[in-house]
Amino acid sequence: MNDWRPGKHSSESYPAHVELEVDVCIIGAGAGGSAAAAALTGAGLTVAVLEEGSHWRPSDFRQETSFAFKHLYQERGMRVTRGNVVMPLPGGRGVGGSTLINSAICFRTPPSVMKEWREQYGCERVTDDRFNGYFDRIWKTIGVTVNPVAVQRNNNLIFKQGAEALGLKGEFMARSAPGCVGCGICQYGCPTGGKFSVDRTFMAEALGTNLVGVYADCRVSKVETVGDRVVAVSGQTLHPDSQRPQGSIRVSAKTFVLSAGPIGSPLFLLANGLADSTHCGQHMVVHPTCGLLARFEQEIRPWSGVTQGYYVDCWEKGFLLQTYSVTPDQYFLLLQTRIGKETLEYLSNLSHIASAGSLVHDTDSGGSVRQTPLGPDLYYHFGEGDKSRLMAGTRLCAEVFLAAGALEVMPAMQIGRTIKTKADILSAIPDDLPANKLLLYASHPMGTCRMGASRETSVIDASGKVWDWANLHVADASMFPTSLGVNPQVTTMAMGLMVGEAIAHGS
Ligand SMILES: Cc1cc2nc3c(=O)[nH]c(=O)nc-3n(C[C@H](O)[C@H](O)[C@H](O)COP(=O)(O)OP(=O)(O)OC[C@H]3O[C@@H](n4cnc5c(N)ncnc54)[C@H](O)[C@@H]3O)c2cc1C
Ligand code: SF4
Repeated sequence: MNDWRPGKHSSESYPAHVELEVDVCIIGAGAGGSAAAAALTGAGLTVAVLEEGSHWRPSDFRQETSFAFKHLYQERGMRVTRGNVVMPLPGGRGVGGSTLINSAICFRTPPSVMKEWREQYGCERVTDDRFNGYFDRIWKTIGVTVNPVAVQRNNNLIFKQGAEALGLKGEFMARSAPGCVGCGICQYGCPTGGKFSVDRTFMAEALGTNLVGVYADCRVSKVETVGDRVVAVSGQTLHPDSQRPQGSIRVSAKTFVLSAGPIGSPLFLLANGLADSTHCGQHMVVHPTCGLLARFEQEIRPWSGVTQGYYVDCWEKGFLLQTYSVTPDQYFLLLQTRIGKETLEYLSNLSHIASAGSLVHDTDSGGSVRQTPLGPDLYYHFGEGDKSRLMAGTRLCAEVFLAAGALEVMPAMQIGRTIKTKADILSAIPDDLPANKLLLYASHPMGTCRMGASRETSVIDASGKVWDWANLHVADASMFPTSLGVNPQVTTMAMGLMVGEAIAHGS
């Protein structure tokens, strides 16, 4: 009995057991999985996509942290790293994956990173020609555009003013949000539909072929193998609200694509003995980011406008400066002193606060992911070189705010020093600050199932196939051999297209 049907499916309609049989089964419906689904269905293959989270419409989203964390975030938004820095490391959950909650920033993979992947990691398929073709396709599919000044508003415009006063190279960022109205809450799901997350673009394209069934509310946990082939995967169907198991699902297929993201994919491979921990779950890089709050005389209203609209390009120096805005409750978490008069003053003056941060291209840092009885354990060690680049970026960010006329600037560091003039910057953001005094944030895990030329150095080969398995592939941000230094959703989609095409063409 084959229950497979094209279209969207969710737990309300599942029988106690769902049994599917298709050409290709994809686990995870985020940036990589959705792009792979478009490539595979475009080549005429039947596909089942199994996704742990639910299907969402823009009108379902609420501007409530508790609602978003519960429904749209992995581990209910509580995922953090341990190590010499403790960082939140959020990831999305639902058809659309992290693109449901991301800021829609779009960067093409830097050519020098692709060259490094080819020359040092044997990723011979990551050529400029091939990837430029993918980038052009992605640009059209997810509607990449620069939003007009009218929706950028003060948080982005004030930073632009400061950057221009210092003569820095900056611009509004291209985003996959052609209909953005600047409501500033991308991290809660876009309630206007102005953001083109992959559920509404790549997955919609795949659904249009009538060759994909997208099974939401399904957590995949097990595999069945025969020789060097995976023959089926299975797991549980979940109640969409309580997320408790309510039934079972099993999918047999000719080919399997693991797109459960940089935390989910290595954990799945390790739990099922499909790869060992020499490289699987290792080499995790994340683009650590340090935020700064700046108080201005004039009103900024940081919650209004494009969530992340403007950046200063210091990629050659190993960092980018990017504006960001969060909701008031999240600003509270960035304050150095979380109780007391000073904090209350900041919160009551929130409409005068602007925020931006420096994002580091991590090169001498690294981490790992492994399963424990208590859940995933994420470890990250922040290297001295990366810390020094982060501090340089954070100091420049403070300078930008001062040049824009900030009355004071507060870096997210546990030494409680505010900056009022340029002379204060070095003592407030000192190079010798221990890493554990930094209040860092990261939302770009990468590299935990890295691609490479041999099983001795990597988890998957240059086409995305897991070493030693004939029909098991990875297509998500875990594939990257290194970090990028730019936001990774476009590179992840390109990887999804590359792996989908490799499977479709049998190469
Ligand atoms: C808050 C936030 C903001 C970001 N902002 C930007 C930005 O502006 N620009 C940018 O370029 N990047 C941004 N990113 C990063 C970008 O969204 C991710 O790099 C990208 O989506 C990764 O794609 P992926 O396919 O690897 O994983 P994801 O998109 O995370 O998708 C993985 C999916 O797999 C599902 N899954 C996991 N395990 C299982 C299982 N066992 N069974 C079934 N399903 C499973 C998950 O529920 C999830 O939906 C942001 C990320 C976050 C979290
Ligand atoms: S800021 Fe733009 S893209 Fe983000 S949620 Fe609001 S309308 Fe959507």
